[in-house]
Amino acid sequence: MREKEVRAKWLEEVEKLWPIAKGSVREVKKKCNRKGCKACAAGEKHTAWLMTFYQDGKQSSRHVPIPMLETVKTALENGRKLEALMVQTGLDFIKSGKEK
Ligand SMILES: [Zn+2]
Repeated sequence: MREKEVRAKWLEEVEKLWPIAKGSVREVKKKCNRKGCKACAAGEKHTAWLMTFYQDGKQSSRHVPIPMLETVKTALENGRKLEALMVQTGLDFIKSGKEK
């Protein structure tokens, strides 16, 4: 592959990787703020989802609304695909230079 083709293939593949995110999701049990919540009073708590990620070297997390959970999981999977794609594209790029 020539460099031009490596670039075109990269852009074509990246286009498909949407939505995208990097990190991981996990389930947590939390108390809520509602007064007189029966679940909290019974010690059951509530299920919530957090996306954990690193930004500028620091670990952080964000609440993921349950209706968005499956989409966020897809985004994380796409993030892993992007990293693999970047590795392969780098190899193809180097190879294109050798073929000149
Ligand atoms: Zn509650």
